[in-house]
Amino acid sequence: MNVPLLDLRAQYGAIRDEISEAMSRVVESQGFILGPEVEGLEEELAHYLGAEHAVGCASGTDALLLPLRALDGEPGDEVVLPAFTFFATAGAVWNAGLRPVFCDIDPVTFNVTRETLEAVWTERTRAVIPVHLFGQMAPMEEIRALADERGALVIEDAAQAIGAWQRKEGEGRGEPGAPGMAGTVGDVGAFSFFPTKNLGGFGDGGLVTTRSEAMAETIRKLRVHGGRQMYHHEMVGTNSRLDALQAAVLRVKLPHLEAWTMRRAENACRYHGELAGVEGVTLPETLPGNRHVFNQYTIRAARRDELREFLAGKGIGTGVYYPVPLHLQPCFASLGGREGELPVAEQACREVLSLPIYPELGEEAQMRVVEAIRSFYGA
Ligand SMILES: *Cc1c(COP(=O)(O)O)cnc(C)c1O
Repeated sequence: MNVPLLDLRAQYGAIRDEISEAMSRVVESQGFILGPEVEGLEEELAHYLGAEHAVGCASGTDALLLPLRALDGEPGDEVVLPAFTFFATAGAVWNAGLRPVFCDIDPVTFNVTRETLEAVWTERTRAVIPVHLFGQMAPMEEIRALADERGALVIEDAAQAIGAWQRKEGEGRGEPGAPGMAGTVGDVGAFSFFPTKNLGGFGDGGLVTTRSEAMAETIRKLRVHGGRQMYHHEMVGTNSRLDALQAAVLRVKLPHLEAWTMRRAENACRYHGELAGVEGVTLPETLPGNRHVFNQYTIRAARRDELREFLAGKGIGTGVYYPVPLHLQPCFASLGGREGELPVAEQACREVLSLPIYPELGEEAQMRVVEAIRSFYGA
């Protein structure tokens, strides 16, 4: 039995009829761009997330790019982000005409902290992008405090973290729509509906959340070439609309998201129990107060590349997210990043390995992954 890193067909099989119905609704209407499906999705997601405003757009990358463009920065203005994240986080900063400044990460959570942000902060820092990597939120309270003290915008990259939350002690239970959900704690939240994300469409899609009416309004303009009224342009925007077909698919999937997230958490729990104590393996940790939604279940592994090969030989899919830190990417050479500069991020790139964790992964398949890892380390 092969165990893929992700199997989208299993999920589709369970909701095929609902999806067909929703898609034919759009096809029959022949309204493909924005419109009632997108508005419906925006409303339902705002409710689920507890966000004041939710604006659909063409991708998670654009969900970062549009608010960065709305910043209206000057060349040389800086945006701090982790060196250990998907490329889009940095690409969006660059494409908005701003300067990405890379910071290191916490070795336990792979996320930025107040300390790692402060280490690279300058007079020119206009915004910070904490990335809720793999599905666990960065420590937002301390990040907010720092940004508020210094007057910077906080843009949460929640592409991997839809449904994650962070509760302070004594604040009671986290739940959908309650305060503390990923994407609603900073000034802006960016979500992706890329098919491999926890809420994935049948193609590209994204969403911006914000509590600022003005920011929401600007994003709504930027996504349609900078004008609310056709052919009247107050600013130069772009084409970054969400398709009605994508919205219709996502509206079918959203009511299932909590159940899928719980299945991911159960699978994480099983790995935790079964892989505890295997020498050579460091398991991911969830900090108190956090709900981790496990877009990825990412371990640190001794002899990582060898383990990966070994698992591949047994038909087990894994992923390395991410093999190269952003400050060492060739396209950012002009920014002057040096090896050894951000040691925690660099070490993570050498050690991380993501294991199959998708909701439909069965116990038997998962135990195959566990047994294979145990046997590799002779445990
Ligand atoms: C997926 C992802 C993005 C980009 O989303 P797209 O929809 O693929 O453009 C941005 N940041 C992170 C951390 C991601 O995982």
